[in-house]
Amino acid sequence: MDCLFCKIVAGEIPNKTVYEDDQVLAFYDIAPKAPVHVLVIPKCHLSGVRDITPDTATVVGHIFEVIPQITEKLGLTDYRVVSNNGVEAGQTVGHLHFHILGGRILGEMG
Ligand code: 5GP
Ligand code: ZN
Repeated sequence: MDCLFCKIVAGEIPNKTVYEDDQVLAFYDIAPKAPVHVLVIPKCHLSGVRDITPDTATVVGHIFEVIPQITEKLGLTDYRVVSNNGVEAGQTVGHLHFHILGGRILGEMG
């Protein structure tokens, strides 16, 4: 499958890894929108939140289980977790990902 984040998971495209286990990979965003900007993805391909089903929800639950470990490692106490879904919402990579943004006062969501 021609998916950028699957290629990152496969090691075909290098990344700056922050956290990894058998189900999840977290790495620094290549074009940070905040002083700290990390992406957390499932290693299995899901196109976005729309692909979350009772079967795939386990990995999503695991992502949210490890986010506190990741943010602690990053030294973040306050942060935003966001997932863009669909082109009109700003999704540019069709593999489910959660942005962790922090390191500055984030203000209201635009
Ligand atoms: P989206 O726009 O789909 O919500 O988020 C995709 C994110 O992936 C963007 O913030 C973009 O900067 C990031 N991104 C795109 N290509 C790469 C890449 O090759 N490596 C890394 N680390 N991040 C990428
Ligand atoms: Zn993928």
